[in-house]
Amino acid sequence: MKFCPKCNSVMKAKGNKMVCIRCGYEEEGVERIQFKERISHDKDRTIVADGKVINGRVAISLCPRCGSTRAILLKKRLYKCMVCNLIYTI
Ligand SMILES: [Zn+2]
Ligand SMILES: [Zn+2]
Repeated sequence: MKFCPKCNSVMKAKGNKMVCIRCGYEEEGVERIQFKERISHDKDRTIVADGKVINGRVAISLCPRCGSTRAILLKKRLYKCMVCNLIYTI
């Protein structure tokens, strides 16, 4: 969900733009937003990170080394940090 920076109304996708339903404000760059969402929701079992394919599941877990909350769940309780690549159990 995206909100208009001018009037805070909901913005709707129109072509490859986002258009405010209230004031008509237009914003480019919808394709980039959709691409990000596709990575986080659909890639459930196979994750492509740095050109490598990893089998696992994207999970929210706090890395003990760098504090990142983006991790890959490899097995039950075994996580791999997506930022510093540390493998840890919780
Ligand atoms: Zn607006
Ligand atoms: Zn980390």
